[in-house]
Amino acid sequence: MKSFDPTEEQRMMRDTVADFAREKLRERSREIEGARALPEDLRRAIAELGVTTLTIPEAAGGAGMSALTAALVEEELAWGDAAVPFAMPGPAALGHALLELADDEQQRRLLEPFVSEPARFGAVAWSEARPHARRAGFNTIAKREGDGYVLDGQKAFVLNAGLASTYVVFAQTDESRGWDGIGAFVIDAAAKGVTVGPRYTTLGLDAATFGEVSFQQVVVPARDALLGRGDFARATRRFFARHALSMAARAVGLARAAWEVSRTYADERKAFGKPIGHFQSIAFLLADRHIDVEGARGLVWRAAWTLDTKSGDDVEVLARCAEAAAEALEVAQQCGADAVQIHGGAGFVRDYIVEKYMRDSKQLALCGPTSTTSDQLFAALALGAPLDPALVLPVPDIQPIFT
Ligand SMILES: Cc1cc2nc3c(=O)[nH]c(=O)nc-3n(C[C@H](O)[C@H](O)[C@H](O)COP(=O)(O)OP(=O)(O)OC[C@H]3O[C@@H](n4cnc5c(N)ncnc54)[C@H](O)[C@@H]3O)c2cc1C
Repeated sequence: MKSFDPTEEQRMMRDTVADFAREKLRERSREIEGARALPEDLRRAIAELGVTTLTIPEAAGGAGMSALTAALVEEELAWGDAAVPFAMPGPAALGHALLELADDEQQRRLLEPFVSEPARFGAVAWSEARPHARRAGFNTIAKREGDGYVLDGQKAFVLNAGLASTYVVFAQTDESRGWDGIGAFVIDAAAKGVTVGPRYTTLGLDAATFGEVSFQQVVVPARDALLGRGDFARATRRFFARHALSMAARAVGLARAAWEVSRTYADERKAFGKPIGHFQSIAFLLADRHIDVEGARGLVWRAAWTLDTKSGDDVEVLARCAEAAAEALEVAQQCGADAVQIHGGAGFVRDYIVEKYMRDSKQLALCGPTSTTSDQLFAALALGAPLDPALVLPVPDIQPIFT
């Protein structure tokens, strides 16, 4: 039987981040949102806590910690402010991509700078603004030229667009093979042909930077092609499983925060001489959402444990991560919406934090994977659909099995 009792190391890490979230993030949530960025002192403090390099392998100078430890930390950070894990410096999704798609030399070369310069940002670009009309696959094309590639295309919704020093870009390498003919490439933000579009203004998580990035005749040397250690499809599945898990852990943190604030309000706010939490309609909402949060966290921990321990069974890894994301992204939205409901009129006034929880949770549910595509992926796995990359990638035209 497995136990999720945290190790001493995990407990210390989680408690340190929880203290930081309570003392530093909570009270500055509105300031962070208003600034549309993490203030410099918080960036530095987060880097000092070591959370940005947590899962970077030791060989590349990182702490080499497990997915489960990372999930514990992500929950606490998002409990403090869900925008913070998106807005903080560090490799972000690029770290997940390189863990799965890069070989040892690439990991050392590309991740070490994030350890020596904690102010760096990384990014991964998979989404595209315009899906291809006639064939499955990316519009972004990587053409073989000499030893390397030349990449052309335009990516959308990219977290850290314009901030990142390094991008991993997914592109089509063979147009005739649809989603089986894709690759991933490392591109330096300063490379000739890389341009960044205007930053989006977003519904939630607005401290984080999202935007479009264009690539025009960008030359990619062979050593920057990510080959997934010889099994690109499997590595891609594991990358998105890792990424989904990270989003799910953040969703649990947000959901827990929304629930706790609601519980306090339900105790303080009185109607007809008693706290509103003593009315069944509110009491049952609180009870149901609490059960939801605990259940979602259980799924996140089980998925993280599966990722850490069952490296050979990527179908199981994918199923557990999809399941955790599907549930946690829904639970976060429900907790955010119910928090506003429980606060009544106060809920939609910005003096209270719950309207931010509602906005942030909606945006979380649209990250890759979305709550609906997580359901789709989990259902496909449960029904035994063949595991091609199209089933996993959070991009348009994906997962055509239920059309
Ligand atoms: C917080 C956040 C962070 C993000 N970070 C990045 C990033 O770093 N890099 C990057 O490249 N992109 C990123 N994205 C973009 C994200 O991956 C996409 O928004 C997401 O995958 C949805 O794709 P789309 O917008 O093209 O929606 P569409 O594919 O147009 O989908 C529209 C709706 O239909 C649903 N849908 C689509 N296809 C199916 C299907 N087959 N079955 C069931 N439902 C389906 C979707 O769930 C969605 O609700 C981020 C988005 C957010 C909100």
